[in-house]
Amino acid sequence: MPTTTAAPLRIDSAELRVVRLPLIAPFTTSTGTMYDKVFPLLTLRSGDLEGYAEGVMDPMPDFLDDTIAGGIDFLQQAILPQVIGASFENPEALNRILRPWRGNWMAKAMVDMAYWDLWAKSMNLPLSTVLGGLGDAVPVGISLGIDDIRDTVEKARMNQALGYRRIKLKIMPGHDLELVSAVRAALPDTPLTVDANTAYTLADMKVMHALDALGLDYIEQPLAYDDLHDHAVLQSRLKTPICLDESIRSAADARKALAGGAARVINIKVGRVAGHLEARRIHDIAAAWDVPVWCGGMLEAGIGRAHNIHLATQPNFRKPGDTSSISRYFKRDIVLEPLEVKNGLMPVPPGPGIGVQLDRAFLAEVSGEALTF
Ligand code: MG
Repeated sequence: MPTTTAAPLRIDSAELRVVRLPLIAPFTTSTGTMYDKVFPLLTLRSGDLEGYAEGVMDPMPDFLDDTIAGGIDFLQQAILPQVIGASFENPEALNRILRPWRGNWMAKAMVDMAYWDLWAKSMNLPLSTVLGGLGDAVPVGISLGIDDIRDTVEKARMNQALGYRRIKLKIMPGHDLELVSAVRAALPDTPLTVDANTAYTLADMKVMHALDALGLDYIEQPLAYDDLHDHAVLQSRLKTPICLDESIRSAADARKALAGGAARVINIKVGRVAGHLEARRIHDIAAAWDVPVWCGGMLEAGIGRAHNIHLATQPNFRKPGDTSSISRYFKRDIVLEPLEVKNGLMPVPPGPGIGVQLDRAFLAEVSGEALTF
């Protein structure tokens, strides 16, 4: 039998750069409007192999408390000095370096994800296979930002016709019931969800009850990012499942949310939860509760998107994810392979690791000077 034990991988060097990609159209949520996608990109090198990861933190702490500057400082001061020149047998060995540090989930995720990419490449296997995933494509839906109601209905119709498997609407107080009712009326049978990005409180029960009557697949993160208690109170009063996104940073968070009745669906973003090892644990604890998970998005470019696709091949990803076509967001991507959806299915990039290659010439155009370690 061939051996499947990978030799320890020595991390010879690393490179960090900040990339700025203009969005084709601004994207608005209850917390603000994004015009460019700005993100840190990490490369870990071992011999001839390179592993890649995008960070999903924003320049300012508007989604969660992580920031690009804070994440880069943490990697530079704390993590990379422990990782460069060291050898790791597997992701668990690497995570022993990451775990003692508080917070910084998104920066930790970058190191974990780049290592998984390297590790899979060292075995000449796709990341999906190494993660225990199945299949060569994943079902996806779209997420529509806050916009004019008539335009949103039109976009929802168009994307449903393109085959996307679910429509998600970003909502906020004052931009909720009229919008959701209009899309529901236009698409009575399409799976429909809403995402409030924490914009409501328990004082908004009237709106919550009205949303509850619209046949939504779930209501995503209606309340504060750090409040499992009030989500449990709300869930006990609604028949529509609550899905948590911002509130879940770890498997421990997922366990507490599920045991406390705060959610019946979980959105897993590998970049939000310290990487693939923790994402896999959240996936498994949700499966134990018979709770479905799905793969969220942070408007990632091709590296982050490829990680998400491989992640979503795992068996408890039972609802369509947010990993829609890259061409909905960017004119040109930082990877050479086009990540495009057909009939609501995003193909898994074949080949070792995440299966995509950097477009180095374009990357040089859209990123600042690289820091090398
Ligand atoms: Mg969300």
